[in-house]
Formats: sequence, structure tokens, C-alpha cells
Amino acid sequence: MNERPIQVFEVGGLVVDADTVIPGPAYLAVANGRVQAVGPGAWTESLDHRDGATVHRMPRRIAIPGLINAHGHAAMTLFRGAGDDVPLQTWLQQKIFPLEQQLTADAVYWGTLLACWEMVTSGTTCFTDMYFFMEQSARAVAESGLRAALSPGLLGFTEEMQAEGLAESRRFARDWHGAAGGRIQVLLGPHAPYTCPPPFLHRVADLSAELGLGIQIHLSETRAEVTDSVAAHGRTPIEQMVDVGLFERPVLAAHCVHVTATDIQVLQQRDVRVAHNPQSNLKLGSGIAPLVELLAAGVTVALGTDGAASNNNLDLFEELRLAATLHKGRLEDATAVPAKDAFAMATERGARAVFRPPLDGTLRPGASADLVFLDADSPRFQPQYDLLSNVVYAASAADVCDVFIGEQFVVENRQPTTLDTERISFEVARIARAFQRG
Ligand SMILES: [Zn+2]
Repeated sequence: MNERPIQVFEVGGLVVDADTVIPGPAYLAVANGRVQAVGPGAWTESLDHRDGATVHRMPRRIAIPGLINAHGHAAMTLFRGAGDDVPLQTWLQQKIFPLEQQLTADAVYWGTLLACWEMVTSGTTCFTDMYFFMEQSARAVAESGLRAALSPGLLGFTEEMQAEGLAESRRFARDWHGAAGGRIQVLLGPHAPYTCPPPFLHRVADLSAELGLGIQIHLSETRAEVTDSVAAHGRTPIEQMVDVGLFERPVLAAHCVHVTATDIQVLQQRDVRVAHNPQSNLKLGSGIAPLVELLAAGVTVALGTDGAASNNNLDLFEELRLAATLHKGRLEDATAVPAKDAFAMATERGARAVFRPPLDGTLRPGASADLVFLDADSPRFQPQYDLLSNVVYAASAADVCDVFIGEQFVVENRQPTTLDTERISFEVARIARAFQRG
């Protein structure tokens, strides 16, 4: 196999990971989709195979690792603004489920492309998705150049739904796990304990072991979910997951808003990864997850936006800042969730949460070369006492100029290179009109 040429990025500042920041001129060399070297100053050409290297001189850009959105439902961009200001169950039963009755494969394809457009231009390079018509999402991801962990959503209301869901997941994993040059991975996606009865979750755990796949699920999102679970089974949703054997497998649990001290211990002991979605939890009035307590216990917590119907955008910079500030207010403690922790949640811990290789979510040598370039000339980067502080507390999605994933630029000068944004807008407007007609 031919070695692909080295690409070198010379930038005005570099965040390698939450603990390693190069505030002045810095370089980063990439080959074969992976970071090869980073350092201060200009590239010294000390690497092997330097012939044919392409040097991108970007002195007015600050490079950070691509952000990782650990929980969401991409095609729900189609329902952005279609049902606000109601609690979760009302929102689901009266707004979202009727709209979802009208979903088609075509709608999910265009809705996912809209999500990819929004995410990549706001600095997200990898996301998770749990939804319907997942092969359409996979097509959209393959075309967009992003990375994703995809799950056909599983609902277990009837025996027939359970059998068909498991068969679909099996087919989807066969066709898409490791596809698009390894950019797509597959997780099994049982929706939640209140939509998937215990025997079904047991079968999901078995299939996960058979196929060697991780699992993502919503857990303990609302107080009512936990109260109902305790009333019906005498167990919290998290205790119930132990009973059905789900935590024998790698699990990414979204929300974990209403968890007991015992639940937190279980999450830590079973190495369950948690996706914290502060904005969606606030907007649906679900509550505030005990992030500080989860972090103190040593649980791996990542950040997610959840779907655009409950957020209502997919901007991880907002979640990053909210995660770093919300808990300071909740606990009346300005030291809670420092910038470093919040940044790690959006990057390195995000990679761990979605079961990517250990170095991913950083720009350390060996990591996937997923780079976001921010505008050093933005007012939000003046002055520069502390680059990481500016990224976490001041920067916004509007500062994202360019994005590079693996071996190619997928955003240049704020424009996606892989997506026809005019066509996406047109198709989404067409689909939304059809939804409105009912
Ligand atoms: Zn969700």
C-alpha cells in the first residue's frame, strides 16, 4: 500500500488535549488519517517520509480536537421547533410520536444530512445516533465525511417488534459496522427501560455479546421514569439494567439525571459511560444530572446535545459552556466542573464514551486526525491569557472556520465541502411542508 503524503498544519495555537495547550505558533503533522507529531514553532521536517508533504500555513487559526457529540437523534432536525415548552411525556405522546408516524426513509436521509451540516460547521466531527431508517443515516454519514456511532432504535412493545428489531440490528451491523473507511461504527440501541421490557433487554445484551458491539440506551431521564420503575419492579432503572445483564456489556447511557448514590456506584463499577445532555434536560424540564457527583465517583461522562427537537440546536460549544457553568450554580461552588473537565468531556472522554480508540478525541500522536480550526481573529479570542479558557468559556460555533477529518477538509472557510447545503435546505423545507399537511 502506498504511504499517503504527510499533511502539516502550522497554526497560531494548539489545544492537544485538556492538559496540553501550545498557546503560540505550533505545528501538527498528519499521515494515514492519524496525528504523527505535534509541537511548538514551525515544522522542522524531522519526520520520516517527508517527501511530498503538504504544508497548510494557518497562522490565524487555533486547532483543537474535533468535538464528539455523545448523544442525539440526528434526523430530529426535521422537528426543530415543532413542539416546545411541554414536558417529556407530553412532548413525546402529543408532538413527536404523531410526527414520527409520517417519517419516511427519504425524510431521515435529508434530516440526517441537515444534522451533519449543522454539527460539522459547529466543530463536531463524531456523533452518536439512535433513530429509525438508520441505513439512511449511514448513507448520509458516509457522504458527509463525519464519523458516527449509529444505532437502529429498538422498541419492545410487542414480541413481533422485538424480533424484527433484533433482526434489523443484525442486518445493519453486518452492512455498516466499520464502513466508510472505518468512520461508521454500530451500537445496539434499545430506546429505554420503559419501552423495552426486561426479557427483551436480556436478548439485546446477548446479541451485543454475539456481535461484539456496544450498546446505547436512555436511562433515568426523568423523575417519573425512576418512580414508575421502583413502583413496578422495586428497582431503579439502573439497578434493573444490572438484573437483565446489560452492564455485562459496554454501555453508553444517556441522561442519568435522577440517579441514587447506589446507582452512581453501579455506573462506576460497571464502567458504564454516561452522556450528559444539560440543555435537553433543562428544556424538557427533566432536571439537572449530578455531574459533579458522577465525575467524583470516576464515571466516564461525555457531552451530548440530544435531538434538535428538544434542544433546539446541535451546537456542542453551548453544551460545553453549560456543563462548565450550570453545576457551579447548582452547587454554589465556582470550582465545580473546571474548564479542563468540560473540555475533556467534549473530546477525549467523548471518544471513550463512544468506544473509540484510546487516543481519539485528542491531538496526541496516534489519535485520529480530527481537527477543528477556530478563528484566532475572532473577538472572543482577544486577549489570550488562557487559550483553553477562551475555547470553553468564550468561543462559539461561529468561530469554527475549517474542519479536517481523517484525511480531508470537510469544512473550508465555514463552508462544508462534502454537502450540497442549498439542496439540503430545499429538501428539508419540502419534507416539513408535507408534515404540516399531515
Ligand atoms: Zn435521546
